[in-house]
Amino acid sequence: MTAAAEKTNLLGMPREKLEAYFETLGEKRFRATQLLQWMHQRGVDDFDQMTNVSKSLREKLKQVAVIHGPEVVYDETSKDGTRKWVMRMDNGNSVETVLIPDGERGTLCVSSQIGCTLDCTFCSTGKRGFNRNLTAAEIIGQVWVARKAFMPFLPGPERPITNVVMMGMGEPLMNFDNVVDAMNLMMEDLAYGISKRRVTLSTSGVVPAIDKLAEVTDVSLAISLHAPNDELRNKLVPLNKKYPIAELLAATKRYFSRLPEKRKATIEYTVIEGMNDKPEHAHELAELLRDLPCKINLIPFNPFPESDFRRPSMNATRRFQAVLNEAGYVATIRTPRGDDIDAACGQLVGQVEDRTRRSQRYINVQQVNP
Ligand code: SAH
Ligand code: SF4
Repeated sequence: MTAAAEKTNLLGMPREKLEAYFETLGEKRFRATQLLQWMHQRGVDDFDQMTNVSKSLREKLKQVAVIHGPEVVYDETSKDGTRKWVMRMDNGNSVETVLIPDGERGTLCVSSQIGCTLDCTFCSTGKRGFNRNLTAAEIIGQVWVARKAFMPFLPGPERPITNVVMMGMGEPLMNFDNVVDAMNLMMEDLAYGISKRRVTLSTSGVVPAIDKLAEVTDVSLAISLHAPNDELRNKLVPLNKKYPIAELLAATKRYFSRLPEKRKATIEYTVIEGMNDKPEHAHELAELLRDLPCKINLIPFNPFPESDFRRPSMNATRRFQAVLNEAGYVATIRTPRGDDIDAACGQLVGQVEDRTRRSQRYINVQQVNP
């Protein structure tokens, strides 16, 4: 174990945890305020640069703590402006983080796990197996790195990151505590100050964790539905066998009913040719969602080498959208972004040392049926 590994990493600590940490050091809680601003607003990871912190405290911190984020091993910008980072974590595995600029808005797509334990049939992350959960420091570290990449332009009116979506690699609700800590830092005024409406957790439907989430936060929620009935969803999202659609939609309703203000769920629907893209699927979906205040985001399937699925034609996707619009829904089609650098939804793979047998099984199948 290295000396750094024995020290406490402050990067992933939300305000209350950092305050409690300073108390254990015999220091005042307000020190947390200073540290949060240095780390997150100014991107500083060297205690010596923290000029409003006393020299003796800086020396103390150097003995017991570190500010340690992921290491960037790849940084490329697509021709449409989408930027992708591959970030290496401490055990040598890496995850991908994507920034999607769109006018005034900059949406950062953040990973929560190295790989994913759920094996959705249309997702390349799922195909690579699973290594481990990311720590809170590694999750917020992705925002920290992305923000630092724009530091020369700060302070200024430009805010490169206005929104964060937990839609990178992994299922965020399978890494509950670390994701909640990281989201709290995203929303913390002393850190990134992003409003709760602009932090979105996307889930494939871990029902008990949706209820648990409602007790601790009020971020925006996106549900990866992808099918209007259980028979079809079982084929696309294996987790559906454990938590079928009716339970998932009931939990989604409960989540929003607890909020004091009216807010809508986002329903994500990856449209796959010949699977779930027919007008009758759209009619069935419109019927299914009748009682849920929601907007629908249609994601044309993004291909990846190991998949036989195909993206439907734009016409077919528009027809699908039209059925939903006619039924009174706001339904948008997400334009694939950054697919020339494999940064689009479902294309993120990182470098996963698979600890399940899944990637192996998958590679064997490929070899038998090239
Ligand atoms: N695990 C979470 C968040 C990560 S996936 C979830 O499943 O919601 C983010 C979104 O991308 C999900 O809606 C997911 O279903 C979708 N997605 C995955 N693979 C895709 C692909 N190949 N093409 C288009 N969308 C995909
Ligand atoms: Fe995991 Fe989401 Fe991919 Fe499913 S779609 S395998 S839950 S990352």
